[in-house]
Parts: sequence; structure tokens; C-alpha cells
Amino acid sequence: MKIAILADVHANLEALEAVLVAVEKERADRILCLGDIVGYGPDPLGCIYRLKEVKAQTVLGNHDQAMVEPSYIQSFNRLARPSLYHAREVLGEEEIDYLSRASLRRIEYNAVFAHANPLKPEAWEPLHMHDKIMWCFERLDWSLCFVGHTHEVGIYCKLHNRPLPLTSTTVAIGAHQYLINVGSVGQPRDGDWRASFALWDLDRQYVELQRVEYPIQRTQRKMVEYDFPVYLTERLAKGE
Ligand code: ZN
Repeated sequence: MKIAILADVHANLEALEAVLVAVEKERADRILCLGDIVGYGPDPLGCIYRLKEVKAQTVLGNHDQAMVEPSYIQSFNRLARPSLYHAREVLGEEEIDYLSRASLRRIEYNAVFAHANPLKPEAWEPLHMHDKIMWCFERLDWSLCFVGHTHEVGIYCKLHNRPLPLTSTTVAIGAHQYLINVGSVGQPRDGDWRASFALWDLDRQYVELQRVEYPIQRTQRKMVEYDFPVYLTERLAKGE
């Protein structure tokens, strides 16, 4: 059994399509999406449509929550708001319903899946500080934890009561506890513009992080057409 885990698609259909092709090549049996399907990008409808089509199971992200509770859009910064209003306009009842049915976290096998901190998922607390990751490690009942939200790929291993960041892109699951940030499909912020996702091979017990290229200019052109903030369009190419 292979599960593909993707997060922070952010309405980037070109990036999502490239990831779905890679997932297909890897013969993954299932797709799990860690939220933030909408926001920032130009294709919220297309992304939800494709994820439904491949029967992805999804947990809720903070941008998705803004679709279910539109008054929440006000709490986002001025860069995020235009794309969220655009998404709310183009999504139909069916898509809003799909998002509203997403849970705040999932537990399967020996793993927990959430958009942000899985121990208080409704707080949308990002996990990029070591003390936050350690706080999680001390309380996690599962040997694996998959998250997104920060748009920065990372594998952390709990070793001698400290979170040790690993530099490899593949990790054999076994003796230790791991927290894995699968990075972002549609708006990576770790200096690499390519779409990011993870594959969990449950038979061979390893997790692999992958990056795939996609036709970025096509996404950027649509963002310009929709008059989204220039910074959002430019950051895609820089991966920041
Ligand atoms: Zn996000």
C-alpha cells in the first residue's frame, strides 16, 4: 500500500496536475490531502474538481475554512484576501460542501494527519520552530505525523528528546518517531519552486519526499489576468 500525501495546493492547477502524474507513475493506491486546496492561486474550482475525481481524502486547512465560513476571510492578510474572495465567488454549493465535510485531522495506522499542529488543529499553529515540534513530539501518540501549512519541506526525527532535522529526502520508518512536513504543491516557500509531495510506502516502511516541475508561467499568467497581488505571482518562481 502506497499513500501519496500532498498539502497546500493553493488553487495551483498546473502544479497539482504535475503531482497527480507523478503519483500515478508511483502507483500510489490513495491520495491524502492536508488542506489549503484554495487561496493564493487562480484555480480553486479546478483543484477541488481534480481532487474529488482522484478520490482524495482531505483534512481542512485555514484557507478552506474561509470558504465554509466567509466572514473568516477578513482575518487573512491583504495578499491572501483577493484570491479567497475570488474562490468564494467561483465555488459552487457542491465544492463548499466537499470542504465542509473535511475533518480537522485524520488518524490512520500509526499516523496522524493534519494541516498544522495536529494536537490543536483548530488553532492553525505552524510547526517550523524546534520548540513547537518538540512540544508535539512530547504529546504525540503516533509514530508518524504528517503536516503542511508552513510550505517548507522537512523531516524531523525525535532523538534523545530533541527534534533532529534530517537532510535526506527518504526516511526508513521504524525505531523512532517522525514529524514530516510534506511541503506545498502550489506555493513552496523553501527556496525550491517545484511542487512538493510525499509518498508513504506502508509495506516497505519508508517515506519519500519528491519535487516535480510544472508549467509555472501558465499559472502566473492567470494570476495576472485576475489581478492578484504581483508579489504572489513572483514568489511562485522563487519558491518563497
Ligand atoms: Zn497554506
